[in-house]
Amino acid sequence: MREARSLEELIAGWDGLGVVARFDRESGAWFFIALHDDTLGRPTGGTRMRVYPSPAAGLLDAMRLAAGMTDKWAVAGVPFGGGKAVLAVPGPLAGEARRGLLHRYGQLVDSLQGAFATGEDLGTSPEDMTEIAARTRWVLGGHGGDGLLADPGPFTAHGVLCAMRAAAARAFGSDDLAGRRVLIQGVGDVGAPLARDLAAAGAELLLADRDAGRASVLAAELGAREVAADEVYATPCDVFAPCAVGAVVNPDTVPRLACRVVAGSANNQLAGDADADALHRRGILYAPDYVANAGGAIAFGRLAEEPATARDDLMQRVDRIRGILDEILAEAAERDESPLHAARRRVERRLQAARGDG
Ligand code: NAD
Repeated sequence: MREARSLEELIAGWDGLGVVARFDRESGAWFFIALHDDTLGRPTGGTRMRVYPSPAAGLLDAMRLAAGMTDKWAVAGVPFGGGKAVLAVPGPLAGEARRGLLHRYGQLVDSLQGAFATGEDLGTSPEDMTEIAARTRWVLGGHGGDGLLADPGPFTAHGVLCAMRAAAARAFGSDDLAGRRVLIQGVGDVGAPLARDLAAAGAELLLADRDAGRASVLAAELGAREVAADEVYATPCDVFAPCAVGAVVNPDTVPRLACRVVAGSANNQLAGDADADALHRRGILYAPDYVANAGGAIAFGRLAEEPATARDDLMQRVDRIRGILDEILAEAAERDESPLHAARRRVERRLQAARGDG
C-alpha cells in the first residue's frame, strides 16, 4: 500500500469521479464519500466507520474501496457504479453522539440527491443504517418479504462458499468441501455464517480471530479447531479464507502460506497485484476478492430494485458467483495466469460495452 499522503495530493491523483469531504465539527470526525465510476449506474457502496491514524488514511481507504466496488458491481453484473464512504472518527462512538453523527452523515448523503447510495460496512451495523435512513432514502436494504434485511454478512458468506466450491473444483477436481480443511481468518459478520455453512457442508474447520474469545466460542459450537491469530499463515490447510482485514496476502505471507486455495471475503486481500502473480507461481489458486465477496452486493442490489424479494430468492441470486468464478478460473487456467487478470479483463469488457466503446 502507498504511504498516506495529504488530502489534496490524494484527491488530485485519483482516477475516480471525485470525493465529497466534510469535517464534522461536533464529533471531530471526517466524512469522505468517494465516487469512483458511474458507467454502470449510481455509485453505491458501504459506509465504513473506523479510527484511522490520519484523515488522509481514511480518505485513501475510501478511494481504494470505491474502486473495488466498481469492479465488484461490474463483475457481478449489477447495474451500479463504484462508491464508498468512510466516517473517520476520532474514537469509538455510542449512544446520542453516534446517533447525531449518523444523522448528520445521512443529511450529507441526502444532499447528493441520489449521486451516491450506501449500506452497511465494517464498523457500522443494521441499526446504524436505520439511523442514516432517518435522514435519507439512499440507504440500501429492504424487507426481504420476511422481515428487515439490513445485514449483508450471511449473503456475502454464501457467496464465499460458492467461490470456494468453484476454486475447489479446479484445484482438487471436486467441489465437495466435505473433509476439506478450511482456515477462516476472522469470524465476524461474514466469517461466522461462513463457518456455519462450511460445517454444514462437512468441512474440517480451523478458526482464528484477533478476538480469541470469539473464535473459541464458535469453535466449541461447531467442533472446530482454534488457531492463534499470529499462526494463521503457516498453518497447513486446503483453503485459506481471509475474512478480516486487507493486505494479508503480501510478500511476507505468500512464501509462508501452506494452502492450495485463497478464497475469502476480506476486501483488498492483496497488498499489490504482484502478490496474485506470486500466489500463481506457488501453485495457490486465488479467487479474486471482489468476485468471492460479491454476495452481499448482489443481494442488496436486488433489494434496491425489489425491496420485498424473499431471502431464499436472494440467496439463489448469490449462487451466480459460482458460474462467474468458473468462467474466470477457466480463462486464467487457459492462459496460465492468476485469475486476477481474467477478472480484471471481465470488468473492463463490461465497462467498455456499457460505454459503447467495446
Ligand atoms: P467484522 O468486523 O464483523 O468481522 C471481522 C472479524 O475479524 C472480527 O471478529 C475481528 O475481531 C477479526 N479480526 C480483525 N483483524 C484480525 C486479524 N488480524 N486476525 C484475525 N482476526 C481479525 O467484519 P465483516 O463484516 O465480517 O467483514 C470481514 C471482511 O469482509 C472485511 O474486510 C470486509 O470489508 C469484507 N466484506 C464484508 C462484507 C459483508 O457483507 N459484511 C461484504 C464484502 C466484504
